[in-house]
Amino acid sequence: MQAADPRRVSIFGATGSIGQNTIDLIARDPDAYDVVALSGGANIARLAEDARRLRADVAVTAFPERLHDLRAALAGSGVMAAAGPAALVEAAARPADWVMSAIVGAAGLAPGLAALEQGATLALANKETLVCAGPLVLETARRHGARLLPVDSEHSAVFQALVGEDMAAVERIVITASGGAFRDWPLERLASATAEEAAQHPNWDMGQRITIDSASMFNKALEVIETREFFGIDPDRIEVIVHPESMVHALVGFRDGALMAHLGAPDMRHAIGYALHWPERRDLPVARLDLAALGQLNFRAPDGARYPALALARRVMARGGLSGAVFNAAKERALDHFIAGHIGFLDMARLVEAVLDRFESDPGLIDAPMTLDTVTQTDHLARQRVDAAMAQRAG
Ligand code: NDP
Ligand code: MG
Repeated sequence: MQAADPRRVSIFGATGSIGQNTIDLIARDPDAYDVVALSGGANIARLAEDARRLRADVAVTAFPERLHDLRAALAGSGVMAAAGPAALVEAAARPADWVMSAIVGAAGLAPGLAALEQGATLALANKETLVCAGPLVLETARRHGARLLPVDSEHSAVFQALVGEDMAAVERIVITASGGAFRDWPLERLASATAEEAAQHPNWDMGQRITIDSASMFNKALEVIETREFFGIDPDRIEVIVHPESMVHALVGFRDGALMAHLGAPDMRHAIGYALHWPERRDLPVARLDLAALGQLNFRAPDGARYPALALARRVMARGGLSGAVFNAAKERALDHFIAGHIGFLDMARLVEAVLDRFESDPGLIDAPMTLDTVTQTDHLARQRVDAAMAQRAG
């Protein structure tokens, strides 16, 4: 029997936590894949090494000033080097069957749209894509007959619980949250929490930014919006529950009262592998749960005072339009300032709320038609507003 043609795959954000887990899976079966494009940012050595090893056609760094280094690192390999946001979009437009979207932040949107436009199946780890531009992304996929598969663990869990089900029978979706690094800290201590402390996740090993977003639950706030966009469910049917063990990733409640839960070890290779092999299930190198050894699983309602980001997500969903792009960009910029030590942990939600206040009183902006241009402009404006609010505090 003749072997099937290798699948053409591209990985955006290949040097990051999701990207490296994706490479781990495809490198186990190199003959099955033909790697088209890999992208990274500052980690040129990692990008070049993986591009050589996987024989990628092209390697792209997001940062134009690093093109020279990337070229040098790829010399003699036959892998083409490219750099900058436009090169990312060009690489995503190269024909591929399966594309992993694992850039961090709103920078993942344009390459994701380009991948959908060429009809690829887009495995979406970059939740910002749906938060900033859900309707535009879904419409682009529909128009080009492209498929979107979730990689965020909660959304993969929901997707799996929905196999063979009708959305009309779904009463609610419950996504779990670990509670992050500060879930057991006294509230008074949060104001002085540092970025190093916030970057210690109790269960998952992830990139720095999403780990800090887990401590503030801005990550869960983005995921609630992602759930709304991905599954087209009313916001008031989406619930968040704190589950410290991170073994149950999500639950789907049906109209007959059944609640289908998805359990698995906290290892992103499960959700990545499910999206890679969908609609089949294949062997994956993830730990199997030993329920007797676990003994118990715990659940509790999230505390609104500890996690103000959750209420902000509700507000964004009620407002609609470009408010998701404002929310995400303000959050990203506030996070930059927190990581740089300019503001405290609790100031992030305050800044984001202040920026949402300003934009909501400007309907011309929020209700503009959603295109890549308007989303990008709104993103820039929201970041500027965060900086302006910071300057005001200082002055
Ligand atoms: P990392 O920070 O580990 O990796 C981010 C990747 O994006 C790296 O390849 C990085 O390059 C690249 N990058 C950084 N800045 C830019 C930019 N401006 N333009 C283009 N590329 C850039 O992030 P994660 O892997 O943790 O997360 C990636 C995405 O997946 C995020 O949207 C996150 O929310 C989502 N996600 C992650 C999970 C996880 O377990 N990590 C779970 C669920 C969702 P370099 O490192 O070379 O600078
Ligand atoms: Mg998640």
